[in-house]
Amino acid sequence: MTDIIKLLPDHVANQIAAGEVVQRPASVVKELLENAVDAGATHIKLLIKNAGKTLVQVIDDGKGMSDTDARLSFERHATSKISTADDLFSLHTKGFRGEALASIAAIAHVELKTRTEDEEVGTRIEIEGSRLKTQEITATLKGTSIAVKNLFFNIPARRNFLKSDAVELRHIIDEFHRVALAHESVSFMMYNNDGELFNLPESNKRQRIVNIFGGKTNEKLVPVLEDTEIVNIHGFIVKPEFAKKTKGEQFFFVNDRFIKHAYLNHAVTSAFDGLLPDRARASYFLYMDVDPKTIDINIHPTKTEVKFEDEHAVYTLMRAAVKHSLGQFNIAPVLDFERDTNFDTPYSYKNKEAESPRVEVDQNFNPFKTENKVSSSNFTGSHFHKNESTGWEQAFEGLDTKRSIRKSGFSHLQVEVDQETETIFEEHESRGNSGKGMDQSRGGATYQLHNKYLVSTIKSGMLVIDQHRAHQRILYEELLKNITVKESVSQQLLFPLRLDFNASEIAIFAQLKESLENTGFVIDLTEEHMVGISGIPSSIQESEVSIVLEQLLDDVQHEVPDAGFSQTDVLAKSMAKSMAVRPGESLNEASRDHLLNTLFACKEPNLSPFNKKTFITITVDELDRKFSAH
Ligand code: ADP
Ligand code: MG
Repeated sequence: MTDIIKLLPDHVANQIAAGEVVQRPASVVKELLENAVDAGATHIKLLIKNAGKTLVQVIDDGKGMSDTDARLSFERHATSKISTADDLFSLHTKGFRGEALASIAAIAHVELKTRTEDEEVGTRIEIEGSRLKTQEITATLKGTSIAVKNLFFNIPARRNFLKSDAVELRHIIDEFHRVALAHESVSFMMYNNDGELFNLPESNKRQRIVNIFGGKTNEKLVPVLEDTEIVNIHGFIVKPEFAKKTKGEQFFFVNDRFIKHAYLNHAVTSAFDGLLPDRARASYFLYMDVDPKTIDINIHPTKTEVKFEDEHAVYTLMRAAVKHSLGQFNIAPVLDFERDTNFDTPYSYKNKEAESPRVEVDQNFNPFKTENKVSSSNFTGSHFHKNESTGWEQAFEGLDTKRSIRKSGFSHLQVEVDQETETIFEEHESRGNSGKGMDQSRGGATYQLHNKYLVSTIKSGMLVIDQHRAHQRILYEELLKNITVKESVSQQLLFPLRLDFNASEIAIFAQLKESLENTGFVIDLTEEHMVGISGIPSSIQESEVSIVLEQLLDDVQHEVPDAGFSQTDVLAKSMAKSMAVRPGESLNEASRDHLLNTLFACKEPNLSPFNKKTFITITVDELDRKFSAH
């Protein structure tokens, strides 16, 4: 048999290697930013066009390259950062594999401009798909600019595999954050399609975190500081009360390199043990300085995984360091886990300034005015015009928050009220407004009692509605309908959410995917351990998504098999439960009316999906009896 083995040509080998180094535009961003940091730059600018699909450019004021180095930098295994294998154990640079530029040049159009301090003129090089197109002298500033255009131009399959601009931009921003958080003494700017996204001046670590994540972050941070023989740990944890249900901000750095480390994440999480609200995740920015000899960063081509020599010791020290600062800053004792979370401020109010209720008193109001006079101005026929009254109702103006109940989508539904509920409104219907829905059939306004019950008058007396149960019923029927009829409205997210779950949870999502999508979710399960969400039902807020999904997993996992309920039913019940307004939430007038009307437009308004009463009535007779006893 003839010999069949041959060496691959360089450009093919480079293209294969590129597959490992460059998965998406964000990988290019990471490599170029790290090279700029390694070159000792103090100012680094990142320019992005079309989420990096058209352009990724990094401009730095670092040490630049000579003419020869500029050409060599695109060769595989060409690096200035190590020269012997031993150097791997005393690394102080981000790069060392000498693969990034070669890989990038194999799958894109690259333009390099660079000049060293002591050179008068610089070098300009153009490379396309590993082929050198131009090398010439050019006038350029000290430092290096590398523009990477048309990524994957010669690998259409890879190009087509790229996600939407929003997703790719999110990845780019993540990489930008990781490098910027590790190098606070370097100033970073980022522009997307010519708009400035980040402008991070040289600062300290705390300030850098705040500049990236916003002014409110400052008060959430608790410092961590622990110096030991094995590792120096410093940085910040986020106070438990600000923990997020979604992944939150979790950053580990080793010798200024961002790393992912499930084992150390466990150390931090367990230090928070008992302090985090149910299923919430800790957020942290933790920097470890270790002797480069005691780590191996060579185990992953993108170098986000690191192996510690004594992993167990680092685990223990990390856990102790976090526990120490939680204790030192008196975070542990303040929390009270027995409290009823139902009485917590609803999420959407947490960040609002408390507003003192506005009390308006009508100076001219005289309760002893003759009834005649009042009636002539405020009564027309049998209708009492609430808006014109100057009485007590107005004193409560301003107590109403502007919360508007989430769209229930029911307003267009035909009213199908069963016998029992129909009779409640009989009298008013006979006033001549019959058949037009419930709002005309009730007498007066709807009031809210203790942010928990809605109270309204009816023919026989008064109606008291449990707002939480009633809303559950409304949402439940709406969800059931959407899942079967498939006509729900979805709101697209600007930045898709990425929530991580374990394999068995992902399997449940795979099963529920179609039903969930019928409710308005747009779900992507292609990434391992990750649920990507780019669209959500119009009736929920983005901040609630992870809570709704986690509740759903819980319910599906704990649903007794063969309990006679379909999966659709479990899903609708679970979502209704977590999406419904809670006791303690204040509803404005429009929301109260809407809730009441849509409840009685339900097929089964009397009971919540969990078979609990949604409302009770108190008759005038009952009231009479109460009064006559005294
Ligand atoms: P590595 O970073 O692993 O050495 P790269 O392919 O990323 O490999 O870069 C190859 C070489 O090109 C680097 O070792 C460095 O000498 C040079 N280089 C790359 N980017 C820059 C830059 N922005 N400024 C100066 N030199 C650079
Ligand atoms: Mg590099």
